[in-house]
Amino acid sequence: MASRPANRYLAAMNAPAAVPPKQRKPDWIRVKAPVSEGYHKTRRLMRDLNLATVCEEAACPNIGECWTKKHATVMILGDTCTRACAFCNVKTGMPRAVDPLEPEHVAVAAAELGLEHIVVTSVDRDDLPDGGASQFVKVIQALRRNTPGTTIEILTPDFRNKSEAAVEAIIEAGPDVYNHNLETVPRLYPTIRPGARYYASLRLLESVKRKAPHIFTKSGVMVGLGEQRLEVHQVMDDMRSAGIDFLTMGQYLQPTPRHAKVEEFVTPKAFDAYAAIARAKGFLLVAASPLTRSSYHAGDDFKKMQAARVAQLERSNG
Ligand code: SF4
Repeated sequence: MASRPANRYLAAMNAPAAVPPKQRKPDWIRVKAPVSEGYHKTRRLMRDLNLATVCEEAACPNIGECWTKKHATVMILGDTCTRACAFCNVKTGMPRAVDPLEPEHVAVAAAELGLEHIVVTSVDRDDLPDGGASQFVKVIQALRRNTPGTTIEILTPDFRNKSEAAVEAIIEAGPDVYNHNLETVPRLYPTIRPGARYYASLRLLESVKRKAPHIFTKSGVMVGLGEQRLEVHQVMDDMRSAGIDFLTMGQYLQPTPRHAKVEEFVTPKAFDAYAAIARAKGFLLVAASPLTRSSYHAGDDFKKMQAARVAQLERSNG
């Protein structure tokens, strides 16, 4: 009889370990730590110019690879967002005043890094009358002045409840790519993106394409948040109805335990299946993989988009 507690102890020792509170990432998500000289140089430059990057603020898993190649996505209008989305690591609060030197600093960063293509994004600035649109315009103008060879991709907020003139001014400034992410399926907006409206985001992209058909439009979704496959297919259809050229899809990763949980790690094979469906739906370009992010390989993808448009025009003319 005396052996029973000992047996229980041994059984407990041999039992499988309890599931750790933090989900283990599958092997296909593993990335290299950022240690290269290129990474440190990019970091120093951003600090010296007082520029924030979404790479750091959003804890992007690709930072080691991108910064080694001197690809950084600049985040203008400060580092504090007026919204609190459940997936996003950018800090929330009352932002500081807009930095008037920021546009020139972005242009200096593009020149110093020798960028052929730059991606500029921002926090949401619901506190500003134009949502920060005029700062995007100034950044585009500064880049055109100082580094005319650099192509410009902007990844903007939704400018919800702002006048149409805000977005029109950005279109007028002439970015090469206008990106705005839908992020997830409409059913999950109330929990994942509570400050935004799915159809408002879609309308924004539709109006960019209608007003300036030559500007490439781009949008992205994260998967792994509990969406259903058919819901993702519907988002693709909605995007095509809005004339969106380029779809990006990546795995959602929980930045901290306070953020929305990962409901599923979508396999690389499932990403390939999504990509095949999206291509069949007529996107000019599709990037879908676990580590795809809006700005991941954006320069190479811009060239692919240009080539795809030329091929499309040749097909329709021939
Ligand atoms: S994928 Fe985009 S956000 Fe992530 S590190 Fe690269 S440039 Fe930065």
